Amino acid sequence: MKADVAIIGAGVIGAAIAREMARYDLAVVLLEREVEPAFGTSKANSGVVHAGFHSAPGTLEASLCVEGNAMFDEIAAELSVPFRRNGCLMVAMSPEEVDVLREHLDRGRRNGVPGLRLLDAGEARALEPGLAPEVVGALHAPTSGIVCPYQLTFALVENAVANGVRFMAGSPVTSLHVREGRIAAVETAEAIIETTWVVNAAGLFADQIAAMAGDESFEIRPRKGEEYLLDKRVGSLVRSTVFPVPTPVSKGILVIPTADGNIMVGPTAEDVSDRLDLATTRAGFEAVFAAARRMVPAVSPRDVIASFAGLRAASSERDFIIRPSGVTRGMVHVAGIESPGLTAAPAIARMVVGILRDEGLEARARRGFNPIRPAPVRFSQLSRAEQARLVESDPSFGRIVCRCETVTEAEVLDAIRRGARTVDGVKLRTRAGMGRCQGGFCMPRVMKILSRELGVPLEAITKRGPSSPIAPYPAKALLREAQEEAGDGPGPAVAHVSHHMSPATGR
Ligand SMILES: Cc1cc2nc3c(=O)[nH]c(=O)nc-3n(C[C@H](O)[C@H](O)[C@H](O)COP(=O)(O)OP(=O)(O)OC[C@H]3O[C@@H](n4cnc5c(N)ncnc54)[C@H](O)[C@@H]3O)c2cc1C
Repeated sequence: MKADVAIIGAGVIGAAIAREMARYDLAVVLLEREVEPAFGTSKANSGVVHAGFHSAPGTLEASLCVEGNAMFDEIAAELSVPFRRNGCLMVAMSPEEVDVLREHLDRGRRNGVPGLRLLDAGEARALEPGLAPEVVGALHAPTSGIVCPYQLTFALVENAVANGVRFMAGSPVTSLHVREGRIAAVETAEAIIETTWVVNAAGLFADQIAAMAGDESFEIRPRKGEEYLLDKRVGSLVRSTVFPVPTPVSKGILVIPTADGNIMVGPTAEDVSDRLDLATTRAGFEAVFAAARRMVPAVSPRDVIASFAGLRAASSERDFIIRPSGVTRGMVHVAGIESPGLTAAPAIARMVVGILRDEGLEARARRGFNPIRPAPVRFSQLSRAEQARLVESDPSFGRIVCRCETVTEAEVLDAIRRGARTVDGVKLRTRAGMGRCQGGFCMPRVMKILSRELGVPLEAITKRGPSSPIAPYPAKALLREAQEEAGDGPGPAVAHVSHHMSPATGR
């Protein structure tokens, strides 16, 4: 197989780059080792589109955050992704912390963040009545927003594919071929792709990809963040994202209204050695709630419906690493993209295309590039009359798969057509399994539809890929049901079963 450019990693960064490259008349391949996009850090973050006052002036982080933030209205509208500018407050709990707000006001202005303003305690509480009485002032940034990070990543890939990019999921890159100091091919478990350009957007594994081409110029040092999602019942505790003053290593623990109408609290920041360590911990839980309740006392651990952890791809450098490899020609690194990487993604994508062209890639605009991704139907958000019309035109809208979130079979089928291959893929695209019962009712039904549509046996349906077979109960019950329907006796026991479903894990 041949390609002009191979992008390694379909997180939000690789996906944004793929979509940006789809504007040009080039053969582009996007390679992802997981079975779906967004299954790395891009599905497990806070979803904040940062205003840009945290980052140190003069860094790539600062300029790309502010530039990316400004691009979100257009990109979210084109891709039909939930996004809104809810504004944020960085709150001070002491006069010393007010000095920190002033420093960030200055930082933000130097970074070009529009509309920043210092508020006194009364003004802050007028904006957010739920703030603690101890809050003595706040920095307000009206351009801060929230987006659904995995919906954005799925939509970027979908639109890239609709414009000619080839997406290869379940394709871990195992080696890079280098000839006379230049990239010659990318090798996966199943294919060799001849190419002279590689974009390394492999997130937590970007240093390992670089090393495959003999480049050991940086190292990734994972930093874990635990987050806790609260029931929608308390979704109006705050409207703005509430930040404390930052710590030396992170923006601190936030209270975040999500794009889907929940409140989320987190993340922690803990350096870890294992790049796959996504466990949440008692200590993390306690730290998150202590910090969040200090700012917004009504936040309660009793309202938790899900928890998850994500790993920031912190690096041995203090800024995003976006540059051509100094060792191997044809390779561009987009590494160490910790927060605000989600925010910066659209701007990073533009910058990377610029670097490739500067390095010699010939790219002519593609005629007919279509930036629009049709919006999926959200049955639960329609009026009764609209719902009735849909059911009449397509009976699968009349079959409710997820009761908590009112997700229909038609929406699950659409998610599969758009690329869902796993229970989590359906869940993240449709919300089936994200309500209070966390999939207890709908998971077997989703499995059954996936099995039927993909033409694979039920026991081959996984939670999020080959390493996460589904728990025995639903698979067994469904197999029995299927056998009864077919008039068969009891069949063989389900192979390879391990308990991977965490009732408290939303992602
Ligand atoms: C807890 C937490 C909260 C955050 N909050 C925010 C926030 O509010 N706002 C914000 O702007 N940013 C936030 N971030 C940062 C943001 O999530 C990241 O910057 C962003 O998701 C990075 O995207 P990525 O594409 O580089 O990485 P990833 O999403 O990890 O994508 C890399 C992809 O490469 C794939 N890959 C790896 N190795 C290979 C291989 N050998 N072959 C093929 N594919 C491979 C992986 O499977 C993965 O899918 C947060 C991060 C964390 C951890």
